[in-house]
Amino acid sequence: MAVKRDYYEILGVERDVTVEEIKKAYRKLALKHHPDKNQGDGDSEEKFKEINEAYSVLCDEEKRAAYDRFGHEGAGAFASGGGFGFGDIFGEFFGDIFSQPNKKTRRRKGEDLRYGVKIKFEEAVFGVSKEIKFNRYETCSSCDGTGAKKGTKRVACPVCRGTGEIRQQQGFFSISRTCYKCKGEGEIIESPCPVCKGEGRVINERKLEIKIPAGVDNGNRLKVSGEGSSGIFGGQNGDLYVDIAVEPHSLFKREGNDIFVSVPISFSQAALGCELEVPTIDGNSEIKISPGTQSGTRFTIKGKGAPRINGGSRGSEFVDVIVETPVNLTPKQKKLFEELAGETKEKKRTLKKSFMDKIKSFIF
Ligand SMILES: [Zn+2]
Ligand SMILES: [Zn+2]
Repeated sequence: MAVKRDYYEILGVERDVTVEEIKKAYRKLALKHHPDKNQGDGDSEEKFKEINEAYSVLCDEEKRAAYDRFGHEGAGAFASGGGFGFGDIFGEFFGDIFSQPNKKTRRRKGEDLRYGVKIKFEEAVFGVSKEIKFNRYETCSSCDGTGAKKGTKRVACPVCRGTGEIRQQQGFFSISRTCYKCKGEGEIIESPCPVCKGEGRVINERKLEIKIPAGVDNGNRLKVSGEGSSGIFGGQNGDLYVDIAVEPHSLFKREGNDIFVSVPISFSQAALGCELEVPTIDGNSEIKISPGTQSGTRFTIKGKGAPRINGGSRGSEFVDVIVETPVNLTPKQKKLFEELAGETKEKKRTLKKSFMDKIKSFIF
C-alpha cells in the first residue's frame, strides 16, 4: 500500500479548521479536479479521488476524531461501513453548475403590464366598460418581428459559429461563456431593420375596451390575457393587469358584498314608529321603523348589496338608524317637551330601569 498523504494537507487546511472551512476548501478543489472537466487526465482523476477520500473523513465528526487520534488506520475503521458516495455530496453542493449551458433562444414572452383604473362606487357594484390607453411593445410590422431589414435574413454568428457560446481553456478545464457578439443567440442581424433598429418590436399606443365585472372591489386586480407587450421573436404575448381603485361614496360604505348606510331619524319618528324611505344603491327603499326604536338599531335589506364577481346572489344593505336629539328648541317645543317629561314616568324608561337594576345588584 502506498503511503497516504495527510488528509488536511490534501485539502490544504489547518488541523483546527471548522467543518465549514473544510467544505469550502473541498468545493474549490473538487471543482478544479472534477473528471468531467479533465477528461483523459489520469492525474486529475487520482487527485479527485484523494480529495474525496480526505473530505469524506474530515467532514464527519466521528471519522475526523478517529483520524486525528489514530491516523489513516483510525479513519479506515469507518471506511467499510461508510457508504459515502461522492455523487451525493457533489449533488448537494454544486447543483447543476456542471450542466452544459444551453444556447439561448431568442424567443421570449412579452412583458406583463400593469394599469391602474379608478371607478365609482356604483360602477364597482354594477360593472362598467372602460376604454383605456397605454403604451406597449408591439411586433414591428416592417420586418415582421425578425429585426432584420426587409429582404435580408439573420445569419449564423461568425464569432461562436452559431453555438451561442465561446469556450475558453483554463488550466485543466474549459469554461464556456455566452457569446458577446450574439448574446448567446447564435445568430446575428447584418442589416438591422431601420424601423425597430433590430429589436423586432416598436412602442405603440394601445386603446382597449375593458369590461370590469359587477362586484369588483377596491384593490382587485383583473388579468387581461395577451394584452401586455408582444412576444419577442415569436414568443408569447405578455398579460395586462388592471388594478381597480374604487372611489369612496358619500353615503355608502362597503365591506365585502355588503353595503352599509347610516340614516338619521327624528326623536318622534323613533318614539312613534314610521315608514322610512332609505337610500340603496338601486334607488330608495322603504323600511318599517317600529315604535320605540333605539338609536343604532340595525335594519337589513336583503339583496341590495354588491353581487359576487362570478355571479350569484347579492349581499345585503345594512341600515343603522341614528336618533337625533332635538336642539335649539323654540319656546313652544320646549313647553311640549316639559309636558312630555312630566308624562314620562321613570318606570316607562325601560333602559334606565334595567340600568338601575344592574347598579343595585352591583352594589348589594
Ligand atoms: Zn423591424
Ligand atoms: Zn455568437
